[in-house]
Amino acid sequence: TGLVVSFGEMLIDFVPTVSGVSLAEAPGFLKAPGGAPANVAIAVARLGGRCAFLGKLGDDEFGRMLAAILRDNGVDDSGVTFDAGARTALAFVTLRADGEREFMFYRNPSADMLLTEAELNLDLIRKAKVFHYGSISLITEPCRSAHLKAMEVAKEAGALLSYDPNLRLPLWPSAAEAREQILSIWDAADIIKVSDVELEFLTGTDSVEDEVAMRLWRPSLKLLLVTLGDKGCKYYTKEFHGSVESFTVKQVDTTGAGDAFVGALLGKIIEDQSALQDEKKLRELLRFANACGAITTTKKGAIPSLPNLSEAMQLMERA
Ligand code: ATP
Repeated sequence: TGLVVSFGEMLIDFVPTVSGVSLAEAPGFLKAPGGAPANVAIAVARLGGRCAFLGKLGDDEFGRMLAAILRDNGVDDSGVTFDAGARTALAFVTLRADGEREFMFYRNPSADMLLTEAELNLDLIRKAKVFHYGSISLITEPCRSAHLKAMEVAKEAGALLSYDPNLRLPLWPSAAEAREQILSIWDAADIIKVSDVELEFLTGTDSVEDEVAMRLWRPSLKLLLVTLGDKGCKYYTKEFHGSVESFTVKQVDTTGAGDAFVGALLGKIIEDQSALQDEKKLRELLRFANACGAITTTKKGAIPSLPNLSEAMQLMERA
């Protein structure tokens, strides 16, 4: 089967050992490896697909730990480079009692932001059948140029381009800048997945109605997806659109649900691209992606809760 190459940041989230506290109140923190593009890579591999991660880590104990996590999960890490000077990115993340997520990033700058064009493993990119990326790697140079170059090389080599903007507003200089930059690469993608919150942010509305989602549609797109948490997802193609419900699960921590959804989707698309034209096939595929997202919410953390194929099948058969 074909190779998915996922490009971007991999980092460590530090999450409080107890829930419902502010960062200041937290008595201690647990390491939770993450970074959306890395989660997607591991999601693909855990479901049986071939995947490589492309990005930069610090040449430190955390960086080497993250590379080992990729390998242990069957992800090709030959595109990973290490920065001798900068540290692996860290983020302290907490879900406060009021339900708001609080982020504090240690990226000043972190190794992921320092990836250069010259460091890109172009052979690996050219092997990709699907090339996936987010928007955090667009925020600062030199990584921004490396990101744009990687997209260009992948596209030239005939890969499908997959984009999950994964908005992290605190990392951008302003909301306007975030919106502008995230949309600046919109037209290059074949597949785009946004969450309901991102749809509202990017369109400046408080609605996820079809006519609002259609503002993010481009003729160059093959598939636009909007994820709706426990309500499943909506899909839009040139020929058809609709929605697919998710599964009922006991939600513990939603971190990584969107990445599991994307990983499941890309792993299937690479096997059979005809789902992009065939609504029945696409709905089946999205039912699978929903199941994978749903399972990921049932355990704490992103990577430990990404499902394997048999867990996904079990949930689908049970429903
Ligand atoms: P993340 O928390 O990783 O940022 P996201 O906001 O990108 O996630 P969500 O919409 O929360 O993405 O979830 C992705 C998919 O996972 C949904 O489309 C749905 O299929 C599934 N999912 C998420 N939460 C639940 C839930 N509570 N119950 C069932 N399915 C869920």
